[in-house]
Amino acid sequence: MSESIKYVLGEESIPKYWYNLVADLPLAPPPALHPGTLQPLGPDDLAPLFPMALIQQEVSTEREIEIPGPVREVYRQWRPTPLYRARRLEKALDTPARIYYKYEGVSPAGSHKPNTAVAQAFYNREAGIRRLVTETGAGQWGSSLAFAGALFGLEVEVYMVRVSYDQKPYRRALMETYGARCVASPSNETQSGRAILAQRPDHPGSLGIAISEAVEMAAQRADTNYSLGSVLNHVLLHQTVIGQEAMAQMEMADDYPDVIVGCTGGGSNFAGLAFPFLGAQLRGGKKARFVAIEPEACPSLTRGKYAYDFGDTAHLTPLTKMHTLGSTFTPPGFHAGGLRYHGMAPLISHIRELELIEARAYHQVACFEAGVQFARAEGIIPAPEANHAVKGAIDEALRCKREGVSQSILFNLCGHGHFDMQAYSQFHSGKLTDQSYEESELAMALAGLPSVPA
Ligand SMILES: *Cc1c(COP(=O)(O)O)cnc(C)c1O
Repeated sequence: MSESIKYVLGEESIPKYWYNLVADLPLAPPPALHPGTLQPLGPDDLAPLFPMALIQQEVSTEREIEIPGPVREVYRQWRPTPLYRARRLEKALDTPARIYYKYEGVSPAGSHKPNTAVAQAFYNREAGIRRLVTETGAGQWGSSLAFAGALFGLEVEVYMVRVSYDQKPYRRALMETYGARCVASPSNETQSGRAILAQRPDHPGSLGIAISEAVEMAAQRADTNYSLGSVLNHVLLHQTVIGQEAMAQMEMADDYPDVIVGCTGGGSNFAGLAFPFLGAQLRGGKKARFVAIEPEACPSLTRGKYAYDFGDTAHLTPLTKMHTLGSTFTPPGFHAGGLRYHGMAPLISHIRELELIEARAYHQVACFEAGVQFARAEGIIPAPEANHAVKGAIDEALRCKREGVSQSILFNLCGHGHFDMQAYSQFHSGKLTDQSYEESELAMALAGLPSVPA
């Protein structure tokens, strides 16, 4: 039996800087726009929601941004995360490919999300903020911010998408254990939530609606800020610790990835792994293919329109140019709740337009098949979101087998699935089904995109 190999770095290898891809891009991404004036957004427009340090990171063109000491201190608890070579999976697939995965499930909340939650909590506390309000899909982000809030003495309030609130009750218990308050969204606590419930009392919720509720609450109080777990430039920036570590670990393995794979909901874990490698390539280094994997039931990168749109359903946020299914689109209630977002990070959308990355969509049953095959070979149970990356990596390894080429594949195993076992139970009993949206609903949501003069 071939044993899997683990590449471990010491604490001194925790990155000292976050890497900003914008510094190396051949073309700057389009600016975010004020929803009223349609003029490029200024820093003051975001000040009611975010601390100035994060707003500056949002618009920064510096290549490296120093990680504050207290944030690195917290990272030490689980970083550097391990990189594995999946020898047993390679054997099971009988592939000549070398498969590596970076495992972010070792964080306290079980995913990559604390990488940015800790940084955001730190900067908010430095700015004198006492309370953070946010949304969550499957609960990974809510529990990560709840954890970070507990460390930095901040109150945390989480609007959790209704369908996930019902599917994953233990994520709510985790948030409450860290001291956060968790409310099912749409709720009766906000105008945005009440408006949705008036139209449809049994609404399953969406990330777009939960964002509206959180932004509405945060805008009302001076001691309260809003916090977002994906999509924004500063969130993608914080996740680049993943790729920087992976570069050092691939060097330990004396290898370099030909293909880099990640799942994309808002795009942050994919960016975290891919951007440091992509940056090196843009500066004249080795080339790789970068493959983003999304759910067939919410395919913003592969089926969405590249256009200015709102980040939320009630249209309280700025307009950003991104691949979008339309802010009023409600994706079906599949299990990878972290991938149920109508839009995509503007930075990921921009580099897709520049053809620096590829995108692919899979249905959920095929992703769970891949996740179960991975678990039986490697022992780790992936989150339903991460199953998309596993499926992407397996398909690349099978392509190598067909073509008879020995390539190196690196993917991000962005979280474990220990709170998602209901979905695995459904899969094992044959009750998990692929879900599709109505084409007419997508067409309607796209027809409602705001009109922005070019
Ligand atoms: C939140 C989450 C995602 C989706 O968000 P990205 O910003 O695209 O990374 C994917 N996987 C896991 C485990 C998550 O918690």
